[in-house]
Amino acid sequence: MIVLGSRNRKKSREVAEILAPCGIEVVGISAFPEVGEVVEDGQTFAENAAKKASQPAIALGHWVVGEDSGLVVDALGGRPGVLSARFSGTGATDASNNQKLMEELAGVPPERRTAAYVCTIALADPAGAIRLTAAGRCRGLIIAEPHGDNGFGYDPYFLIREYHRTFGELPARVKHQISHRARAFAAFIPGLLKLVPQIERREPGT
Ligand code: IMP
Repeated sequence: MIVLGSRNRKKSREVAEILAPCGIEVVGISAFPEVGEVVEDGQTFAENAAKKASQPAIALGHWVVGEDSGLVVDALGGRPGVLSARFSGTGATDASNNQKLMEELAGVPPERRTAAYVCTIALADPAGAIRLTAAGRCRGLIIAEPHGDNGFGYDPYFLIREYHRTFGELPARVKHQISHRARAFAAFIPGLLKLVPQIERREPGT
């Protein structure tokens, strides 16, 4: 069993689905209310992923995977980037973030609406030391109208050119093969599997 340092239920489900074929069970940090909120004030995805791994790992005395991801839009100079979850400010929701994205991209022609999803992962040991990291990215286009309601976040607006479909339309099994998260975990899993004997020997709080 491994703990994922995220309270985002849809993201946690994706990670659980990606790791299930390896026989690794994922438990979200929400299962441990005693663990405090991690302040995501890093300047990079990698810094935030490390924080989301280390702080809960120390609190629980267990191995924790931290995952930080977001949308990098070329025409917006890389925004929302590390602020993707909070793009529209306090109380942001997927709907309000998407609305802000549409406002900021109003008038930008289709060929300039290129973007990438970025995902970074860090694995912290029970002392909070980062033992493994990986990153993945997936390129797409931000379209002007939402399509589909699969996935989460910006997915209904994120078009995968090769499939002529958004992540909102593509089934989870396809997203789990080509997404930023899938690519980051593909790079991460071999190292994780090597550490599994050490990880499996512990339960949180023991
Ligand atoms: P985090 O939980 O701080 O890493 O924030 C990630 C944010 O980036 C999410 O709230 C979404 O807005 C966006 N994001 C990351 N990955 C995805 C994805 O696979 N689909 C849609 N939005 C994503």
